[in-house]
Order: sequence, then C-alpha cells, then structure tokens
Amino acid sequence: MMRNRIILEAPAKINLTLDVIGKRDDGYHELETVMHQINLFDRIALEIWDQGIELATSSSEIPVGEDNLAYKAALAILKKCGPGAGIKIFIEKNIPIGAGLAGGSTDAAAVLAGINYLYGSRFSCQDLLELAAAVGSDVPFCLPEHYTEHYSGVLMSPGATAIARGRGEILEPLPAKTIPFILLVKPGFQLSTAQIYAEFGLQAVNQSPDTRSFLQAWYNNDIISIATYMGNVLESVSIRKKPEIGIVKARMKEQGAINALMSGSGPSVFGIFPDEATARQAFTEFKQDYREVYLVSSYGRGD
Ligand code: ATP
Repeated sequence: MMRNRIILEAPAKINLTLDVIGKRDDGYHELETVMHQINLFDRIALEIWDQGIELATSSSEIPVGEDNLAYKAALAILKKCGPGAGIKIFIEKNIPIGAGLAGGSTDAAAVLAGINYLYGSRFSCQDLLELAAAVGSDVPFCLPEHYTEHYSGVLMSPGATAIARGRGEILEPLPAKTIPFILLVKPGFQLSTAQIYAEFGLQAVNQSPDTRSFLQAWYNNDIISIATYMGNVLESVSIRKKPEIGIVKARMKEQGAINALMSGSGPSVFGIFPDEATARQAFTEFKQDYREVYLVSSYGRGD
C-alpha cells in the first residue's frame, strides 16, 4: 500500500569490540569493530510534501538545519528522486547525544530507508548503502537490510550485529543473538568522536581487543566469553580525558556486571549483566547519580 506518511524506529548501537588497525591516506582510521543494535531508539516520522525539507525535533540540543545528519541524508536521497520531491521529518530524540551510540547516524539511516519506502522503493540496497556511506561512517551499519510494517504505518527492522571494517562502511553481518540485560550509563558530558581519534593517534599503543576470540564466543553463543572478550582501544584515551568513564566502568562491575565497556569514542558505558535482578539493582544504584541510565536488551523487532 502506498502511503504518504510513515514512522520508523531508529535504534542506537553499542560497540562490543573496537580496534584501530591502521591510518589511511585519506586521514580516516582503519577500523575493525563489532556493532550491535540495542532497543533504545529514536522515532522518526516522515511525511511526503512538495516544498523541500522541513525538520523538527523533540530535542533542543540538536540542529534542525543542514547540520543535522538526518537532514543531510534527506538532501542526498531527494536529489536523486528528482524535482518536486520533498519531506517533512520529525525526530523524537531518545538516544543520548554525543554519546558514542550513533544517534545521529541511525536517524540518517532511518531517513534514507523511509524516504525510499515512501517514494516507491526505487533504490536498491546497494544504492542506499552508497548514499549512507557518503553521509557518515556509521550510517551504513545503521541502515537495515529490510523493514517490515508491524503496526499500521510503523516500520521496524530485525536489528543488526555486524563486524565493520574500513572506516566502518565495509560490513559483514554476524548471526543474530539477544543479549538480554544490558545496562547503559551516559555520564553528564559529551565527547567529540573526531577529537578522541585525533588524540588516539598521538598516544602510545593501547591494548587492542582480541577480536578473533570475541567472534568465536559470539558464534558459540557463550555470553560469559562474549562479555569477557569485549574491548575498545579508544577507552584509555577517553578515560585519560575523562576519568569518570573509568569510574562508571569499575562501578558497573562492582554492581555485578560480567564485564563493562565504553561504547565507541564514549562517554557511554554499558555493562552486560547475568540476570534481571542484578541488572535492576544496578540500574537503581546508578539512577541516584545519573540522569541518563537505561536498562536495555538487543534490538530485534521485525523477526
Ligand atoms: P557516534 O557513535 O557515531 O560517534 P555519537 O553518538 O557520539 O555518534 P551523535 O549523537 O550522533 O554522536 O551526535 C554527535 C553530534 O552530531 C552532536 O554534536 C549533534 O549536535 C550532531 N547531530 C547532527 N544530527 C544529529 C542527530 N540527528 N541526532 C543527534 N546528533 C546529531
């Protein structure tokens, strides 16, 4: 059924591993990272209209013009839709901003998928992936392979786990797995991804994650080993800058997490918990000191 409006869920990601394996000629770092979508998501409402792009949001902290990644994505795809194609975008912002959770990238990916849907699915997956990579390094991962309409007019994706290489755009999907108890804490400050990478380049070699063992654990469905082999080479850089990240991480483990890790370039920290009761208790503890605390699990709807 052709529609002129649609709502999409745009989930956040966490990095279960993150390694920098080189520096490229174009200035970007060569990455190897396992990304995993969680059920903390923005809602993106889209409506066809004929007068360019209009963007509004529930958040007072993100731009509404061309600096918004969702706006950039809309511009890129509408250019290819031909003259007269326009869109109204509303972003219900639930994902913490500047947190290492790819909040902007997932909004952009949802806009690409949603506009394609509204305009008759005229672009292939490959076309969309290329547009996504041009908008931002994390956008291709956030772009779901397919959406299903679960409720009338609401599109949901099965949720993704993938290992990303290159600058993040070369994706190898991993088998779906549900991590049931993930506690996420976003300290009350933001970090700039670009700045953390820049400082990473200036520092001595940090300890790399054992990605091979992590993947083995993932394929074996062994949650203890999955948690144990998580690692993020950027963590020590961000902790040096903001020691509070290290404190949250240690506290998460004291509270019973199997392991805890910073996501992306931070400052969000997530812990993997063995059971719901321990996770809930830790949630309550952290809630006393932090505003942005979430008890989540892996994202997975359309399956
Ligand atoms: P990543 O994990 O990909 O590094 P992040 O979670 O650290 O991303 P974002 O939340 O995507 O960071 O936002 C970083 C910056 O991008 C902020 O300064 C914000 O103003 C800007 N931005 C632009 N568009 C958006 C958007 N739709 N949602 C959130 N931030 C946006």
